[in-house]
Amino acid sequence: MPPPALTDFSRLAIHTMTNKPWTLAQCVDAYTAAGVPGITVWRNVLQDIGPQAAGRILRDSGLTVVSLARGGFFPAFEPSKRQAALDDNRLAIDEAAAIGAPLIVLVCGAVPGMSLFDARQQIRDAIGTLIPHAQATNVKLAIEPLHPMYAADRSAINTMAQARQVCEHLNSPWVGIAVDVYHTWWDGHLEKEIHLAAAANRLLAFHICDWRVNTRDLLNDRGLMGEGCINIREIRAWVQAAGFTGYNEVEIFSTDRWASDQSQYLDQIKDAYLSFA
Ligand code: ZN
Repeated sequence: MPPPALTDFSRLAIHTMTNKPWTLAQCVDAYTAAGVPGITVWRNVLQDIGPQAAGRILRDSGLTVVSLARGGFFPAFEPSKRQAALDDNRLAIDEAAAIGAPLIVLVCGAVPGMSLFDARQQIRDAIGTLIPHAQATNVKLAIEPLHPMYAADRSAINTMAQARQVCEHLNSPWVGIAVDVYHTWWDGHLEKEIHLAAAANRLLAFHICDWRVNTRDLLNDRGLMGEGCINIREIRAWVQAAGFTGYNEVEIFSTDRWASDQSQYLDQIKDAYLSFA
């Protein structure tokens, strides 16, 4: 029997990047009016107004800030670049604290020409270096494994197991995992790894969208739930069965959708959420 559908929007969150044409204030107004209770804020929408003003807008809205996206991009051949990445991640952690986000999502990075093994060691070391700052600001660090098609230049962490190994090595309550169905749906160990992460209190976030067949662009052609081939509802049921009580975050990068009417798109997101998530 297929897992039951969601029947309300009480656990729906949307990433501001999903509605990229909108400012933070527009996202906040639209989500609030639409009865969407959660928001994940991308750093680009903080550029104009700054984290303090953004924090005021968010607190006044009553929305739950689920996370700040994103930090990461740790590995580099040059030590100065690794240091710059650490500095930028500390800034991201501070921004998260300012807007009331309990965690930042980490796209961990990869460098063409550097072995993935070396990159993973640098990632592990960098996240370890950030733990005291995460603890001091009460902001958790969520490693998001990325689909292996991004292994060349966006993330050397490509599976849940690799993310778990980093977590186990660091063994800190401030480091966990963000599960994104777009990146992990193909992994035969996904259900097992979701349960392992939850059992260790490391399952920090859950992102949904769909995998279009055919995918026309590696970055900006994600599908709305139901437009592709991912068993979203089944994976969401695994996450729930593992004890996760957080938000189902809609995170869709789509050139097509960004060119469409964002208010109509928000209605479509809500419909697709109940029908396919
Ligand atoms: Zn994601």
